[in-house]
Amino acid sequence: MNTPAEPVNISTDRSLTRAQRQKMPVALDVAVEIAKANGVCIRPIVLRRLDVRTGRSEDVNVPCGATQEAKCPPCAKRNRYLRMAQCREGWHLEAEPVAEPDEADEQQRWLIEFRADVQAQRDAAERDGDTAEIASWDEAIAEIDAEITAAGMRGNLSGREVSRRSRSTRRRQDAPDLPKRAMSPTTLGRAFTGTDGAVYRPSMFITLTLPSYGRIRAGQGVPVDPASYDYQRAARDALHFSKLVDRFVQNLRRVAGYDVQYFATVEPQKRLAPHLHMAIRGTLPRAEIKAIAAATYHQVWWPAADEVRFAGDHLPVWTPRAELPDGAAYPDGQDGDYLDPETGEVLPTWDEALDQLDQDDEAEPLHVIRFGDQVDVQGVLAGTPDADQCIRYLSKYLTKSLGESLDADDAARRDHAARLVEALRYEPCSPVCPNWLRYGVQPKGAKAGMAPGRCRGKAHKPEHLGYAGRRVLVSRKWSNKTLAEHRRDRRTWVLEALGLADEPVDPHRYVWKPVPAGDGTVPSLALRLLRMVADRQRWRATLLARQAEATGQDPSAIETIGRAA
Ligand SMILES: [Zn+2]
Ligand SMILES: [Zn+2]
Repeated sequence: MNTPAEPVNISTDRSLTRAQRQKMPVALDVAVEIAKANGVCIRPIVLRRLDVRTGRSEDVNVPCGATQEAKCPPCAKRNRYLRMAQCREGWHLEAEPVAEPDEADEQQRWLIEFRADVQAQRDAAERDGDTAEIASWDEAIAEIDAEITAAGMRGNLSGREVSRRSRSTRRRQDAPDLPKRAMSPTTLGRAFTGTDGAVYRPSMFITLTLPSYGRIRAGQGVPVDPASYDYQRAARDALHFSKLVDRFVQNLRRVAGYDVQYFATVEPQKRLAPHLHMAIRGTLPRAEIKAIAAATYHQVWWPAADEVRFAGDHLPVWTPRAELPDGAAYPDGQDGDYLDPETGEVLPTWDEALDQLDQDDEAEPLHVIRFGDQVDVQGVLAGTPDADQCIRYLSKYLTKSLGESLDADDAARRDHAARLVEALRYEPCSPVCPNWLRYGVQPKGAKAGMAPGRCRGKAHKPEHLGYAGRRVLVSRKWSNKTLAEHRRDRRTWVLEALGLADEPVDPHRYVWKPVPAGDGTVPSLALRLLRMVADRQRWRATLLARQAEATGQDPSAIETIGRAA
């Protein structure tokens, strides 16, 4: 392949007006299309890799899919293959997996994921040519980068700071009324011996759904009567869905009496509510699963958010606090407070609001979430067509975001989605959500410049529809491998096929650092994409050539693995 000429990065050229930019051929869009056609990541993150052995540093394009959740279609597709392999591997294990405690770089991984997320937002702003947006994302990126650097320098981390507050929620989560079996220290389900002497290890595939918020038009996924459809409940259920899933797993383990392992995916229903498909190792009576689902609930012990206290022009005002001697920081990390614009009264901070909630015996949870009546339980045997079908089903929507299933031509569903997004707009998505100001509470770690309705949290975005959690939930002892290890497997396979050594990399050899946003040495996104395409094509051509030399290799298998690597 010829080396492409460096395209003009018109989307960052600020000397042009937006109108001028729109008239020019869109070089970046072309590069994106070429990258997509070649299965190359279209949202690579640039990281600077310093080789401590040679002292040389190099910028590396890390595919967004290398983080937990892929942000671009090619990476999502590749990750889907890996997920299917992971799901298959753990479902019917016959021996206990070896647990490898690898929490050391958890924070760094979390930061890199978060960084990728923010980078994706910045890229989108760049494509829109929205300079104000770009600047504010750059600011966020700079902050995260500082944290990544700090995390790297600290090396071994014991994890993020644990909140001092866990007592109230723990005290108030009532235990559901369910049978409880003595725990046995196994992650495997029971084995059964058939009359023919064969041993079976039956497993389960279950689907859990949220309750009804109003009648839905059959086949269309839109409310019969939008006016009476409970959008607020739908919004809050979506926001807290992952907590409900956690509770379900806790209850499941308690009832089952062993360390039940699962591989689950969260997918959108047609009515745009999240629901859960879960492959479970081992089996329980169907009636018990239904009883567990019915008894499971989660209470959200957050301050009340039903009475609007500040809206429109009537918003709390930020006032800096007095400086502490020797530049000491306030224990809550804030250097100011939000005040009632009329009375000057300081609004309660997040911790103060939770303390009030603790002391109030009459207090009700902000929200209680439960599953709906529709619970589907299926028994599955290893290696059967049923099992394969379930695995395909589990990964079916992984390449799509929750809100992406919307058909652009379907006005009724678009309206339905818009109403849900509107309901989510002022719902607090987390303790740090600026929406708390609307209800008279300072968000946790409040900062200047916050305004209700302008939270940048994922949950409020149309493509997430309230669910900001992970799409794939895999318990720690599902298989012997993490997704990264599955990825490494594929890599090893490819390197072997290429006749290259897959040397174990000394974890201390490289120091990774983010590249500062304004760094002039990084080529444009378009150029980086084209280079990655060239690399991939070269790599694939070599792989196929080797494959042709070799005997007894199935070319289609090589193609598949090449794509997944
Ligand atoms: Zn990607
Ligand atoms: Zn929010």
